[in-house]
Amino acid sequence: MEPLKPRAELETHTVGNQPEPRVSLGLLDEDVLLRAELERLAPAHLGQLGRFAGVIGGPESIEDGRLANRFPPELVTFDRTGRRVDEVRFHPSYYAMMERGLAAGYSALPWTAAEPGGHAAHAAMVYLLTQIEPGVCCPMTMTYAAIPALDVDAELAALWRPGLLSTTYDGRSVPATQKTGLTMGMAMTEKQGGSDLRANTTRAERDGNGFRLFGHKWFCSAPMCDAFLTLAQLPKGPTCFLVPRWTPDGERNPIHLMRLKDKLGNRANASAEIEYHGAWAERLGEPGRGIATILEMVHHTRLDTAMAPAGLMRRALSEAAWWARGRSAFGKQLIDQPMMTAVLADLALDWMGALAAGMRVATAFDHSTDPAERTFARLAVALAKYWSNKRCGPVVLEAMECLGGSGFVEESPLPLLYREAPLNAIWEGSGNIICLDVLRTLERTPEALELFYQELVRAQGGNRSFDLAVTQTKDRYAAGVSEPEARRFVETLALLLQASLLIRHASPLVSETFVATRLDGDWGRTAGTLPKGTDSAGLAALI
Ligand SMILES: Cc1cc2nc3c(=O)[nH]c(=O)nc-3n(C[C@H](O)[C@H](O)[C@H](O)COP(=O)(O)OP(=O)(O)OC[C@H]3O[C@@H](n4cnc5c(N)ncnc54)[C@H](O)[C@@H]3O)c2cc1C
Repeated sequence: MEPLKPRAELETHTVGNQPEPRVSLGLLDEDVLLRAELERLAPAHLGQLGRFAGVIGGPESIEDGRLANRFPPELVTFDRTGRRVDEVRFHPSYYAMMERGLAAGYSALPWTAAEPGGHAAHAAMVYLLTQIEPGVCCPMTMTYAAIPALDVDAELAALWRPGLLSTTYDGRSVPATQKTGLTMGMAMTEKQGGSDLRANTTRAERDGNGFRLFGHKWFCSAPMCDAFLTLAQLPKGPTCFLVPRWTPDGERNPIHLMRLKDKLGNRANASAEIEYHGAWAERLGEPGRGIATILEMVHHTRLDTAMAPAGLMRRALSEAAWWARGRSAFGKQLIDQPMMTAVLADLALDWMGALAAGMRVATAFDHSTDPAERTFARLAVALAKYWSNKRCGPVVLEAMECLGGSGFVEESPLPLLYREAPLNAIWEGSGNIICLDVLRTLERTPEALELFYQELVRAQGGNRSFDLAVTQTKDRYAAGVSEPEARRFVETLALLLQASLLIRHASPLVSETFVATRLDGDWGRTAGTLPKGTDSAGLAALI
């Protein structure tokens, strides 16, 4: 696409002091922290990620991201003769973004790559793509996450894995057997209860080799996926089922799309309310063990919901820094105004902490054959998801303010980032549910906390305040953690994890300021309240 050549000399004034628009973004080249993480954790995938970052940070993808949001999906329930089709049609830009993501291996790479670091590379893709168009990430994330859940049934896995692991996007609405690539969604949440899955009322009835499902789901994102993992009741309790969009005899499976949600954000992605009118399904896993079966999928989607806020914060900060570098006020570039420098420096710490934690969790997924890393991942993914999302909203909001009024206008990416910011906190376990999950993990696998503290030991000796905070935390919670204390506990562990990683892998400026503010309490209640004497310019330069 030709860059615009706008005229600055207008009849009434000359346009000035407006930063030059960026037609492309150096998503990987300019992100020194991501580069460092990848060089350490996924060096074999750096070339591939560089190409992906180049494509999605290019003008065509940026425009596609904008269009896919500007022209949201449309529900087509019936054809013109009144026959049911239950389809969703998207803007061509949505399909283009799906194609780019799947082609790069967003869903497949961790399961197919011969080289180590596949989950870390996947996490980096989530982080990168979220910065351009977060809506398309949803179906690709679910496809990635469905793979390990299928492992409980060798036959179903053999049937579905090849299509799900394809790097071709085939958006046609035809039976899976006719397609060159497949995607998989997830439908758990019902009207009367989302977090409380045992309250699900959708029921399954045996029908020959399969089952028929009757009931509804209140949220089913990406309803054009080729199949969904879903929960329905059997006499033994909630059971997991695989529901294809088409029945084995080539008919449209009666999954009625009732309406699409009119959502705050994530607008390129269709989220539907659905009903099963005797939808054909195959059981996945043991009867009554459905929650455990589908939780394997949830465990993997949580990695992505922990990484996405890091990407949202990164993009918001990169926009804020670009603006502050390109605009002056009161005789100086904004970036050189001490208070602006301090705001950007402070916000950067949240982004860096979130990125470091997400990548560490992804590496634990990469080493999941090691039982210690697997147990660590169970706990750490919840900590990272909880805290990174709690920081995402405030960071994006402050970043928007750095652009002044221009940040509030839809031509800027800030409104999209702002609308997206709360989402990853809600789905795949909202804040309180994540904290309850952490308590449950500690109850069922008490060694998880010990393994977590061992992770922190790796950073000990690097910062005295950090060492003290670890000791105090251990003492404080030695007798256990009650529900009312859970949020404080989870927040503290998440901050300790972020701090430990920054001590080990970032500069002393980063880690010391992080510890002084986030753990030692030398911090105000809003951004830009760093300890006296902090080298804010040094921190802001990292954005
Ligand atoms: C854009 C979008 C897309 C989605 N896509 C899908 C999808 O594809 N498939 C799918 O299955 N779901 C999907 N969801 C649903 C999402 O996962 C649920 O909204 C979420 O799990 C919360 O469930 P709920 O809405 O029923 O809230 P509830 O379970 O009613 O929870 C409401 C609040 O109460 C809190 N709470 C619940 N129990 C407790 C407790 N014991 N103690 C303290 N607090 C508690 C929760 O933390 C939450 O803050 C989507 C949601 C959104 C917003």
